[in-house]
Amino acid sequence: MPSTITENPKETKELASELAGKLIKKDHEALIIALEGELGAGKTTFIKGFSKALGIREKILSPTFVLIHKHKITNDNFKNLYHIDAYRLNSEKDLLKLGIKEIFINPENIVLIEWADQVKKIIPKTAIWVYFSHLEKNIRRIIIK
Ligand code: ADP
Ligand code: MG
Repeated sequence: MPSTITENPKETKELASELAGKLIKKDHEALIIALEGELGAGKTTFIKGFSKALGIREKILSPTFVLIHKHKITNDNFKNLYHIDAYRLNSEKDLLKLGIKEIFINPENIVLIEWADQVKKIIPKTAIWVYFSHLEKNIRRIIIK
């Protein structure tokens, strides 16, 4: 479980871009990345770097009001990137109603979930977890498991 210290948003984006370059498609399920860490810890910043590395040109927003953002990927392995923010959810049921199970079983999807700890019950065991700690003003510790 590598732990990395980043000293500015650019370094966080670079770390995300490295991860994006190492992803291996699965046979029967989506690639799921669960992000955990307090407000301002860098989850959305990480997803911006990740998305850019996959060639997404659309703006990555904090999906605070829209729960799920879907972006097309033009990649040999993956077709869609889903960006979900679970912060405002009352329970896992809200995501189930939005068809999350279907999104999870399609190997052409990459799914990034901010505040994944709020919906832990429905995150598959195979998910990659990324933990963010806000250490100082611009210093973050990021652990990828
Ligand atoms: P979250 O999605 O976890 O709430 P954001 O990525 O939206 O967090 O916000 C992180 C904020 O912290 C941004 O304003 C960003 O510019 C700032 N920041 C400062 N240093 C870093 C760093 N090392 N990594 C990521 N973001 C940083
Ligand atoms: Mg965010």
